[in-house]
Amino acid sequence: MAIDLVTRREWGARQPRGPYSRLTSTRGVKVHYTGGQISPDIVNDHARCVALVKSIQNHHMDGNGWMDIGYTMIACPHQKVFEGRGPGHLPAANGAGLNSGHYAVLGLVGSSGFTQPTDDVLHGILDAVEYLRAKGGAGQEIKGHRDGYSTDCPGAPLYAWVKRGAPRPGGGPVDPPGPHPSFPGRVLTYPPVMTGEDVRTWQGQMRNRGWSIDVDGMYGEASRQVCRTFQREVGLSATGAVDRATWQATWEEPVT
Ligand SMILES: [Zn+2]
Ligand SMILES: [Zn+2]
Repeated sequence: MAIDLVTRREWGARQPRGPYSRLTSTRGVKVHYTGGQISPDIVNDHARCVALVKSIQNHHMDGNGWMDIGYTMIACPHQKVFEGRGPGHLPAANGAGLNSGHYAVLGLVGSSGFTQPTDDVLHGILDAVEYLRAKGGAGQEIKGHRDGYSTDCPGAPLYAWVKRGAPRPGGGPVDPPGPHPSFPGRVLTYPPVMTGEDVRTWQGQMRNRGWSIDVDGMYGEASRQVCRTFQREVGLSATGAVDRATWQATWEEPVT
């Protein structure tokens, strides 16, 4: 489904105070909530979403002294996605030093009142994520604000969903069975450092499987080491090169 975008003009955003810092790519997205009280009536009244987003922008610009709202995009309970700073622009909401690594996507969920993200909120967040991957070079990671920063954000319900792998609601298992991405046709080796979307795809899946690996699209020494360890675990010879058999094994069910 296409994203249901609420443009800045549509929600009546104030102009940013200056030019944005450019971002050409990120490792992915961090998910946020508003915290505080949100009336449960928001579910039946999109005008409340618009008012809330405007108040957040005012708070960020007038209270925090930021040049604009701190979020990249905002997902509401009507599966609409508000344009914040937008793709390609440095957000401010992740915390100092953490903004160039991830875009910041807010779900309109509070810490009292409306606290449980509905399916429409989750779809909206994922629509934003896909949009940022397509338009802003966002990588595969979906994390919570609290990952790497001391905060309760994005709250327990949203964070539990993030930790489950941020599945589409009603979409069945987190890792839906389906055709694996086909082997790219080249063996990923190091050295020299190989780069490309196939590298990123492999790294993303390894991270999904719980490996500690940067999803940066660069197959270097660290990726080779992860590959070797993985190959030993699954009984392949530990070449450190992602060949066809290793690629296939990356999408097989883990042996338990
Ligand atoms: Zn946050
Ligand atoms: Zn709404």
